[in-house]
Parts: sequence; structure tokens; C-alpha cells
Amino acid sequence: MVKKCVYCKSEIDEKSLIDVCKRCGIAVWGEKMFNAILNNMEAAKDEGIYDQGSISTKSFKLSDKFTNL
Ligand SMILES: [Zn+2]
Repeated sequence: MVKKCVYCKSEIDEKSLIDVCKRCGIAVWGEKMFNAILNNMEAAKDEGIYDQGSISTKSFKLSDKFTNL
């Protein structure tokens, strides 16, 4: 199964923790913020939050932020 960026629809690594490619992520949040988000996602995964669906909730909020820009 191939994951796709929610913004530009380009294919991204299926192991990526967020549904946004690096290019769009940096365009939206800036490189520093994007890396911080990735770090947060990694931390959440390590804590097992990933399996409880919290990541999708976070992704939804990030999408909202993008729409408001
Ligand atoms: Zn993209």
C-alpha cells in the first residue's frame, strides 16, 4: 500500500508517521517546525499512542492548520 501526501498527492514512504511529504511539510510549517512535529510523532509512537489512533487526530489538527493559512 502506498501512502500519498494529503496536499500534493505525491507518494511518500509508507513508514512515514504523517501523511505529508517532506517538501509540503517544510513549506507549511518550516523546516524546524516540521522536524519538531516528526520528533513528536516518533515519541508518540514509542509510547504506543500510535496504536490508539491519536496520530490520526493529530494529523487532522495539522491539516486544519494548513487550511487556515
Ligand atoms: Zn506533498
